[in-house]
Amino acid sequence: MADRDAPIADLATANRILAHEGVVDGFGHVSLRDPDDPGRYLISVSRSPELVDEGDIVTLGLDGAPAGPSAGDDRPLYIERPIHGAIYAARPDVGCIVHNHSLSVIPFGVTGAPLRPVFHMASGIGDTVPVWDIAERFGDTDMLVTGMAQGEDLTRTLADRSVVLMRGHGCVVVGEGLRDTVMKAIYLETNAALLLASRPLGDIRFLSPGERALSWATNTGAGPLKRAWDYWAARAGRAGSER
Ligand code: MN
Repeated sequence: MADRDAPIADLATANRILAHEGVVDGFGHVSLRDPDDPGRYLISVSRSPELVDEGDIVTLGLDGAPAGPSAGDDRPLYIERPIHGAIYAARPDVGCIVHNHSLSVIPFGVTGAPLRPVFHMASGIGDTVPVWDIAERFGDTDMLVTGMAQGEDLTRTLADRSVVLMRGHGCVVVGEGLRDTVMKAIYLETNAALLLASRPLGDIRFLSPGERALSWATNTGAGPLKRAWDYWAARAGRAGSER
């Protein structure tokens, strides 16, 4: 069995980081695929991310039920866990998922205005960011992804990309591991704010696909990822990592 203590501690730290950087507030969540079983994932019980500790992390099956070491755990869970289960089932390349309602991203989901990278640190969001509208298939809802059919529909719009916006709700960010995915989620919000600030000044020049790819390769080197993670962890009052 793989070491579970380090990924569980890192996931608790990711919760604190995303809260401290304003990506999540009382709502939103981050999960990590189980290092021991690709058919499971780690996520907090239903708790605000800023308050999450190691003891709050549970193991769920892709159906959203407590599994493995968490089987029988009856603590309340996040309602929107079908987001995580559906994406992990369809995307073997995805090892980490963030769902959030960060504010600067919302205007792009409700207007369809293109949300593409305008600066190098946001290169992880991809060349295009699609918008998923829950009403197209499900009509009037409470806007939340509460069933697997909704999670699977959202996953189809995400397709092979890194980010999908959810009209009138928020977004989902996926990546290989915690650090690159946290980086994408933080800079998605920053990029959206920069776009909103740039638009009144004139035409936008986005990163070209070549610039975006080269930039993301640089940003995700071991050095930059560790440097960023240690910075965010320190700001959130958590220890960095030796790795
Ligand atoms: Mn939500």
